[in-house]
Parts: sequence; structure tokens; C-alpha cells
Amino acid sequence: MIIKFWGVRGSIPAPIDPIDYESRIKEILRISHKKWQKDLSLQPEKIYEELPLHLREIIGGNTTCVELIDGNEQLIFDMGTGARRLGYDMMAKGRSGDIHILLTHTHWDHIQGWPFFIPGYLPTNNIHFYSAFKDCEERFVIQQKFEFFPLGFHEMLSKREFHYFEAGDTFNIGSFTIKTEPLIHPGNSTAYRIEKDNKSFIFATDTEFFGPELPKIIKKKKKFFEKTDVLVIDAQYSLKEAEQKIGWGHTSMIIAVDCAMEWKVKKLVLTHHEPAHDDYSTYQLYEEAVEHLKEKYKNQITIELAKEGKIIEI
Ligand SMILES: [Zn+2]
Ligand SMILES: [Zn+2]
Repeated sequence: MIIKFWGVRGSIPAPIDPIDYESRIKEILRISHKKWQKDLSLQPEKIYEELPLHLREIIGGNTTCVELIDGNEQLIFDMGTGARRLGYDMMAKGRSGDIHILLTHTHWDHIQGWPFFIPGYLPTNNIHFYSAFKDCEERFVIQQKFEFFPLGFHEMLSKREFHYFEAGDTFNIGSFTIKTEPLIHPGNSTAYRIEKDNKSFIFATDTEFFGPELPKIIKKKKKFFEKTDVLVIDAQYSLKEAEQKIGWGHTSMIIAVDCAMEWKVKKLVLTHHEPAHDDYSTYQLYEEAVEHLKEKYKNQITIELAKEGKIIEI
């Protein structure tokens, strides 16, 4: 299985702003200048490799959209604004026919990319939506009411079918086994566990793991999350923010680490990044989570930050 991240931002798109861009360029120039003063023969590539992560990479501002590919089979998780570029990529690769989209829930940041997802306009495509919300189709129709978007949901030319399930159900798509689990979030959300050939991948956003009941909840969810190869989980907040935003439906990076350890996952990937955090602060939270893993658990698992364009192979 190959997992590709097209959108990793939580709540609202948060592209890099001009002030942030300018300050990054200046910081890069300052670092390079210092290094070249010491050794003028240094290659730019070498300097780039040694830059701090927040200067070397951009986490990305698009909201949730993740693609899973295994041979000719594809699954898509959520239609946040990252779906726009996924659509272009699918067009370029000539990927058409049956397209399977698994929806966690329908908050804006998880469906807003749909009207810009070009494959949705092609009559040759059969698009299958999967959702635990029985009125999911109606929610998509509302999003494209004339007051909000010039073209209605039913005016798009692809064929569409909604498949409804109860969170907790198991079903199949092609050769994948799909297990589902309800998540704690305002208006609810659904986690997906994808299994094939003894490999597994879990996508679990948006979800709040916090509060006095936390140890009990983590244990209760163990059966679903246990021993997965890769867990992609909501990790929007710092611990302090999680304390201040009880009931907002998101998890802190530190608690995501505790959950992953209890569930014995092999690789933890943190996503749904807070739009108010710049890349520097997101990397700082990540460093704290890495430190927590080292101190409390002696580095027993791999932990990564979800970034736009990132690819993980299972
Ligand atoms: Zn969200
Ligand atoms: Zn949400």
C-alpha cells in the first residue's frame, strides 16, 4: 500500500502568508551567509540539507485529503481542499472508472474540495461515497446550493452512489477489508481501518482523546486500533490547547503518542494541523512529541508529521 497526503491542515485552509515567506527567506539567507563566510566552497545543496526543518519543508495549507493506492486499486479519504490537486493528478494519470471516497464526516474542511475535484465532472466516472451519515448526499447538495456555488451537485456529470453504514460495521471495497469505528467529535466522525495482505492502515481524524475518562476510552478503542502498521491520527493541538478546548473535537500530539503506545501501532503519523500554528510551531510540537516518546517509552515506535506530498509505503 502507498499512502499519499494531499491535505493535512485542520479546520480551514492555511496557505503560507507573505510575511512568513519573507522571514523564512531572510533566515535562510542569514544561515547561508554565515556558512559561506566560513567556507565559500560549500555547495547550496549541502546548506539546504542542514537547514532546520521549518525552513527546508512546507507542511502545506490544504485541508484533509489522503490517497491510498495498492496496484490498480485506490481509496480516497475525505474531500478537503487537497482533493483539487489529487483530481489533477488522477486526470494526468488517466485514472477513471470507479472511484471510492471514504468520508470521516462532513465538516467543511473535509468536503470543500469536492466541487473542485475534476474527476467529479466526467460522465465516465462512477463515484462511490461511503459515510456513516445517512443524509450525506443531502449535505453535499446543500454545499452546492446556488447561494454558495454556481453549479449544483446533481449538475456534475459523474455518476454517484452513496453507500451508508453504521460506524462499527465492516465491509469490502475490491480486495480491501474496511473496518469502521465511531470517533468522539462534535457531530461525530468515523475512523477507517483498511486491511489487505496482512497489512493495515488506519485513518482517524477528527477525534478528541482527552479528559478524565481518557484511559478508559483508549482501552475501549484498543480492539480497533491495535497493532496497525500505520496510524494517521488527528493531532491538532498542544497539550495546553487541548486543555483549553475541551469539546472542540481534537487531540494533542503528546496524547496521540500515548494512544499509539497503548495500541501498539508500528508507525504514528500526526495530521490535521492547527491553522493558527505556523510551520515553526508545528515542528516544535512535533519535537515535544518525539521527546515524550523518547523519555516515557524509550522510542519504541516511529513518529512522523503528515505533510503535503508525503508518501508512506506499507
Ligand atoms: Zn477537520
Ligand atoms: Zn470536524
